[in-house]
Amino acid sequence: MNRNSNHQGIHDTIPQNTVLDLENEVRNNVQIENDTVMNFFNSNNLNGLMSEVVNNPNPNEPQQAQQINTQEQNPSFANLVVRSLQSSFPFFIIALVKLLHQHFFGFLVVLGFLTTQHFANNILVKQIELKDKKQVKTILLLIGYLISHILIYFQIFNENNLEKCLVFLPPNVKKMDTWNLLWIVICSDTIFKFIIICIKAIFTLFNFNICSIQTRGNFYSTVEAFGSLYRSLIPIHPWILFLFHFEDSNQSPKTLPLFLCIVYIILKLNQLYSLIIEFVKCIHEFYQGFPYGTNTVVNDSEDQICPICQDRYKNPINLKCQHVFCADCVSIWLDKENSCPMCRTKLFINKPKYRDGSTSFSIQWF
Ligand SMILES: [Zn+2]
Ligand SMILES: [Zn+2]
Repeated sequence: MNRNSNHQGIHDTIPQNTVLDLENEVRNNVQIENDTVMNFFNSNNLNGLMSEVVNNPNPNEPQQAQQINTQEQNPSFANLVVRSLQSSFPFFIIALVKLLHQHFFGFLVVLGFLTTQHFANNILVKQIELKDKKQVKTILLLIGYLISHILIYFQIFNENNLEKCLVFLPPNVKKMDTWNLLWIVICSDTIFKFIIICIKAIFTLFNFNICSIQTRGNFYSTVEAFGSLYRSLIPIHPWILFLFHFEDSNQSPKTLPLFLCIVYIILKLNQLYSLIIEFVKCIHEFYQGFPYGTNTVVNDSEDQICPICQDRYKNPINLKCQHVFCADCVSIWLDKENSCPMCRTKLFINKPKYRDGSTSFSIQWF
């Protein structure tokens, strides 16, 4: 009773207009707040915020991490290739081991040939550098070693008549599949390189008065150019057999092999053309002699010594840069370099190749 009486008492004490004003003000404020909230949710701010939350769950994450995420989501083509290779590498090894197991003897022969060529090459180049001090016994042993390799190879694969490949005739092989093709052309190529090394070694031993030390570099490079030309002809027949080879003998379409064969021959002719040009150039240089200096006369005093051998001049040669050396000394230098050993003046454009008696290590497999 007292409380009701008190409430009524307060209402009674506040003027009626003031109460109505207060109620209206409260209603307006609530309406404004509702409108603000609705506007916020309807605006693009929310969409932006939501997309930001989706793309970057942790807003405090550094910018760099965001970039990495973007790269991971959109990797470049190179990254995809690397990833693919990384994931397929173990399977590649499995296939290689299987291939090695299947053709173990073939791999062993190729590996043995390449190792033999490497050592034979090094031995011959060292012996050629020694000039008159060369070891005849070492060179003879080298020739014997290479010839024995050639004979053993043909003896082991006697049934296949692989020696025919060296004279551009087809070997006796049941099917010329990819493995047989590569194996035959790589082995034939290496065998012919052994023959080339033997020719160079025999020339180093006997010379046959073909040329002096000054022009012997030209002889070695001419033999090498001839070898490269001949070696490029060896794979032609096996390749044509390979291109026309079918697993199923009833298979008759010849259009694709014919097309591939024409493309192969066009490419081959292009290669042969550049090799013939190189060979002709070598023959021309061989007959040209030593065009990089002229014979000269030096006072025979003790202070006049050749800068290379540190001894008195023998057949002194005056280079274009006016530096003087023994003819033999500078010839051996210019078999490997294209500039004067003293002032480095260029005497010809490119560094000489194969003038020192070395043989190409590249494999002519096509
Ligand atoms: Zn000298
Ligand atoms: Zn010089």
